[in-house]
Amino acid sequence: MHSLWNDTEAATFGTDPLGQRVYTSRLLGRNPELVLHGGGNTSVKVAEKDYFGDDVEICYVKGSGWDLATIERAGFSPVRMDALLKMSRLPSMSDEDMVLQQRAAMTNPNAPAASIEAILHAILPFKFVDHSHANAISALTCSKDGEARTRELFGKRVLVLPYVMPGFVLARQVFEVLQGTDLRKEGIEGIVLLKHGLFTFADDAKSSYEKHIELVTLAEEFLARKAGTSPAAAPEAGKPDLMALARLRQIVSKTRGFPQIARLSTSDAALAYSSLPNIADCGARGPLTPDHSIRTKRIPAVLGDDHGVSIQKFADDYAAYFNRHASGQTMLDPAPRFAIWPGQGVVSFGDTLKDARIVADIAESTAATVALAERTGGWNPLTEKEIFDIEYWDLEQAKLRKGPARKVHQGKVALVTGCAAGIGFAIAESLAEQGAQVVGLDIDKDIPSIMAKIGAIGIVVNLTEDQPVQDAIDFTVREFGGIDIVVSNAGIFPKNDNLDAMAQGDWDRTISINLTSHQKLMNKVIPYVKQGVDGSIIFVGSRNFKAPGPGASAYSCSKAALTQLCRVAALELAPWKIRVNIVHPDAVFDTKLWTPEALAKSAARYNMTVEEYKTKNLMKVEIRSKDIGNMVSAMAGPLFAKVTGAQIPVDGGNDRVI
Ligand code: ZN
Repeated sequence: MHSLWNDTEAATFGTDPLGQRVYTSRLLGRNPELVLHGGGNTSVKVAEKDYFGDDVEICYVKGSGWDLATIERAGFSPVRMDALLKMSRLPSMSDEDMVLQQRAAMTNPNAPAASIEAILHAILPFKFVDHSHANAISALTCSKDGEARTRELFGKRVLVLPYVMPGFVLARQVFEVLQGTDLRKEGIEGIVLLKHGLFTFADDAKSSYEKHIELVTLAEEFLARKAGTSPAAAPEAGKPDLMALARLRQIVSKTRGFPQIARLSTSDAALAYSSLPNIADCGARGPLTPDHSIRTKRIPAVLGDDHGVSIQKFADDYAAYFNRHASGQTMLDPAPRFAIWPGQGVVSFGDTLKDARIVADIAESTAATVALAERTGGWNPLTEKEIFDIEYWDLEQAKLRKGPARKVHQGKVALVTGCAAGIGFAIAESLAEQGAQVVGLDIDKDIPSIMAKIGAIGIVVNLTEDQPVQDAIDFTVREFGGIDIVVSNAGIFPKNDNLDAMAQGDWDRTISINLTSHQKLMNKVIPYVKQGVDGSIIFVGSRNFKAPGPGASAYSCSKAALTQLCRVAALELAPWKIRVNIVHPDAVFDTKLWTPEALAKSAARYNMTVEEYKTKNLMKVEIRSKDIGNMVSAMAGPLFAKVTGAQIPVDGGNDRVI
């Protein structure tokens, strides 16, 4: 591991202590081997004048909710040193009180809450303090002789402390040690908290950071020597069994109580880990640091031949673990946050893609570190009870409860066709706004960038072609774990010709896109929707099927047949509790088909103003793409949980339909 310090870059952060603190915090955060996703914390002590001009000593500590990799000045909480030192002298203090008093001691009440390690930062008698959960420190200390080898490696350079709960208990432990130890006089450069992480400190930002890098590098080199030759190359990633992945996601979502995004990682580290001969044993021992267990639970599920049985066993074991240690707490859901699929890789789960990715990163780093620890002394992490105390710690529970309310489609995966513009785009947008992970298929070559605008994935596909459609469906399952919502929308409106004048090609093309492509999509996607969560299929029809017009035979027939396809699908899929419905929009003019000129021409044909023409329905209301988008999103959600085979007109009322 090398220092990333760069004088020129450092200067851009400002030469004042807080500016330098921001810079080296980001350097720590830049290295995933040191901290991951909000892990680790840093501080700087500064003498300032307060609002009234009085001198005050402030400890700027990393605020909760900020990530070291991207932290800014505003991410540090200014806490009065005198209050923190006073707290450190109390023989005991509940963590709730500690958090409250830390907030009361902040000179800016609008700053984020200070890290729960603020007291510990305050009592270390150096200006800068850096704390990480480095993988190498975990691998070094989470082994049977972890303490002995840590002492042997670092000698008198670091203080080695046994594991205790983070928060007040840890601050108090360090406080007591400092009563008999002068860190400066004894030349102590850091503190290793066994099975937790490393603290380094100095009076300038660069030294504190570089000591951190130096000590972690010593641990890395020690482990490399112990590990000897590098392990056998990771096995080749085979073709993943996507149906098994979708089924696994369905089972885990049911166990969790909410749909989950699932991501299969087949990186070298994930494959090597999942292929360890003793994976069932060492996968079930514990996490790298207490911090990780909040995201990943204590252990992952290790999959056997029958994934349903494996997840049930995980849930049963989780309940037993809870019952062994609980004293009045309420049990959290018993679903795994990641699963080891022997020989196939690691599957991570989350409410959102972001959550699943965070778990995947932690799982990846766990995989590499555990594999290394196994080769250098045996993986021996925190005990079950120690993890329980963290998992059911009030402060951690509060952190998790703080998240925003769940969106209607959170954790669901939606496939939408024909969504580059107009109604299709509005549908994709409404589903994404309600939390669905959307994949949009369209022949428009700009679909990737169009979908990116709403946080969705766009794939260029000609829906009348078989293999590209299959590939897009497989990609969706591979990336997100399954498919729950399908909106079959793609369609064209051919030029108006009466039957005796119509070119055969126009008819054939209309039927091919407006009808047959939908049938082909169903043929390929239904097997996955059957393995989805609360499956829902929605077709986009048209008012034309009930109220056709002259010259629109191909369009009207295709939409009538599509309606019949929907009804048959509803009958076929009811036993799987998959809902199949159709929406019939009419006169939606905010689409790319309708230019202002075309609109004016059509209005003139009816002898109407454009405004009258746009609201040419019983209720005299304008129908917008977004109205259809919101309706389809509602149809995919719980409001329509018990509705199937329904035809919903969104047309402002039409006497030929009613
Ligand atoms: Zn920590």
